[in-house]
Amino acid sequence: MDKSKLSYYEKLVSVVLQNLKNNYIDGFYCRTSEEAKNKVLNIIPPGASIGMAGSVTLKEIGVMDELMQGGWKVYNQYLPGLSSEESLKIRKEGLGADYFLTGTNAITLKGELVNMSGMSNKIVGLTNSKKVILVAGVNKIVKDVKEGIERIRNLCAPVNAKRVNFETPCGETGFCDYDLCRPPKYRRMCNQLLITEGDWEKDRITVVLVGEELGF
Ligand code: SF4
Repeated sequence: MDKSKLSYYEKLVSVVLQNLKNNYIDGFYCRTSEEAKNKVLNIIPPGASIGMAGSVTLKEIGVMDELMQGGWKVYNQYLPGLSSEESLKIRKEGLGADYFLTGTNAITLKGELVNMSGMSNKIVGLTNSKKVILVAGVNKIVKDVKEGIERIRNLCAPVNAKRVNFETPCGETGFCDYDLCRPPKYRRMCNQLLITEGDWEKDRITVVLVGEELGF
């Protein structure tokens, strides 16, 4: 990333980290993907079980491959060759794991996490898991919740729809058409909205911010 851009983002990161702390959410900054991967691997004790929700960011930093090959029990519903029933079973089992790993669609300057989910996996994992680790590139930082929702509906969802070949109005036009996006013609990728303003249990959630543009 360009030096001036990185310096701009790092100023935002220091604000976000302080506010996460105020919200009882733990936070770290890692300059690179490699550092972020090692940070996650250091947090999760050997032998722990891990559930997850789909995240391009996790894929990009390569942490899932390391966990699958290491001494961890990973519930990976995205393994090739799984039937939809098998995938759903693993997805549900992962929600009872020791750690839940995913990305965040957006993180505000006030340290709020903004996430949407089609099947609720991400929402349940974030709210109910014993420990949660979220990894996010600095490109996920937004001013406020409103901007976070805009980001999801007009960037994350349309790009994701294309990526997984899912038919939605946003995938076709690049913009959310909320009223048109109804079953049976369309299955929404963003049925549930979760705004995490803080947590009851201190440091149950850890956010690892990375000084790179990751995911979308
Ligand atoms: S409501 Fe539908 S069109 Fe809008 S962002 Fe979600 S999936 Fe896309």
